[in-house]
Amino acid sequence: MTWIDPSHPRFESLRVRARLAAAARAGVVVPEGLIAHGRGEAFDYFLGEQTTPSAARAIRAAAAWLRRARSPVLSVNGNVAALAAPEIAALSRALPTLKVEVNLFHRTPRRAAAIARRLRRAGVRRVLGVRPTARIRGLPSDRAWVDADGIAQADVCLIPLEDGDRAEALRRRGCRVISIDLNPLSRTSRVADLPIVDELSRALRALRKELERERSTPRAAPAPSAEWLLAEAIAAMRRRLATAATRGRSRRRRSAAPASRRRD
Ligand code: ATP
Repeated sequence: MTWIDPSHPRFESLRVRARLAAAARAGVVVPEGLIAHGRGEAFDYFLGEQTTPSAARAIRAAAAWLRRARSPVLSVNGNVAALAAPEIAALSRALPTLKVEVNLFHRTPRRAAAIARRLRRAGVRRVLGVRPTARIRGLPSDRAWVDADGIAQADVCLIPLEDGDRAEALRRRGCRVISIDLNPLSRTSRVADLPIVDELSRALRALRKELERERSTPRAAPAPSAEWLLAEAIAAMRRRLATAATRGRSRRRRSAAPASRRRD
């Protein structure tokens, strides 16, 4: 992987990009996945690259839904495996009933196997969906292929970086859908019962902590409405953009002032 100077101001972002590029070379991530990552990064900028209080509420509610689910499933695509395999392993340790299933828009047996290998290497014990055994009706793409023991019979599905069609199809089947997507305007976020508008790895780490906290002190975390969560995410982005715009203006004014009046 490319060496990145740790003192670079965007070190973390560059490190993640390098990891995704390496995963693309290994056949885990497709080129379309790199473009999707860029879209996510832009929205994360607007959020200030941090979990907002409303996303934290959604994560608390998600922990309660997953813990109480009869058959919870986490759906994994190439980007998700490349970005967060260790976090997925930690999540499945925190919630042993959680099944992990590979689900791909651009499916080849080789790619599905490479993703499953990556997950297993990170510590996920059982990976479903490598040789799918069922189909979700009404979906034309390869994403319709699912595992009869996994998504086909799930009552709660956690779907990070998903596409809107499949989120809709899962809901039609009566499955409760929790999304993780930085874009509050995407169809996935708009269709989900519980949209978590946050960066994938941050959200999964916070979710694991919540699940662990829940195990020691179970408590009811009433789910906020999806509409409220999306409105709050958009409001957080607007606030941040407004602050950034004001800061930019005052900085420009300061640098335009005569040197004798400048205090910095
Ligand atoms: P939809 O059909 O839901 O409208 P889309 O066309 O906007 O989906 P896709 O390419 O299917 O987008 O999925 C990528 C989504 O994942 C984008 O909305 C993007 O913002 C989001 N995303 C990308 N990287 C991350 C990440 N690391 N964490 C959270 N969300 C991410």
